[in-house]
Amino acid sequence: MIIAGPCAVESHEQMDAIAANVAASGANVLRGGAFKPRTSPYSFQGLEEKGLQFLADAAQKHGLRSISEVMDGESIDLVASYVDILQVGSRNMQNFSLLKRLGKQSKPVFLKRGHSATYREFVGAAEYVLAGGQAEVILCERGIRTFETYTRNTADLAAVPALKELCDLPVVVDPSHGTGRRSLVAPLARAAIAVGADGLMIEVHPNPAEAVSDGQQTLNPLEFEALMRSLEPIAEAVNAKNVLI
Ligand code: PEP
Ligand code: MN
Repeated sequence: MIIAGPCAVESHEQMDAIAANVAASGANVLRGGAFKPRTSPYSFQGLEEKGLQFLADAAQKHGLRSISEVMDGESIDLVASYVDILQVGSRNMQNFSLLKRLGKQSKPVFLKRGHSATYREFVGAAEYVLAGGQAEVILCERGIRTFETYTRNTADLAAVPALKELCDLPVVVDPSHGTGRRSLVAPLARAAIAVGADGLMIEVHPNPAEAVSDGQQTLNPLEFEALMRSLEPIAEAVNAKNVLI
């Protein structure tokens, strides 16, 4: 399960270009935030419904599935009407009322690890969705906060085999948020596949320097293509299976 796309949906043209590129490189899910959980209320908050429309159109045109973040219970129906997979962001991992509502709807849930969550807390959060009746939950290790400041977060790759000991859910790694640095994304992505991850979430933008958010951790399409090629022998060596198909 290779999820790729920009941090935030910016325009129809941007999504169309990215979708064409990442599909050609072998991604199968298109990402793009339309409701963005930003640290500052004055930062770009997302295109909301228009962004969901751009994401859904581009995904459909290029034969990709789509994923976008849902930040609150009120917008579940809106986001679910456009995308195939609902993302719960790190900041909402223990928003239990949101998780309970997500358990009662029909789209798969992609749950990102809270930046200070233990493995057991992470699995407990997933259990809230499962308990409501939604059996399709995908866990995403996206880095945790540690004393290290060189990286934005500390990508915790031990989480992959550890979570597989604790539960049967697929585990995807997001080395973009997990490191916050473009130069570290590809090495961590390769390590994630080697350690048994079921997929990756990678931020990709036609021109990362001009991205409205997270440009410093975003690959351009050529870098993404090179990364994808480099993953093949590793996936083969560890017998990786595609959980999506
Ligand atoms: C994202 O994937 O766009 C995002 C905001 O990630 P996280 O919730 O992991 O910070
Ligand atoms: Mn981002």
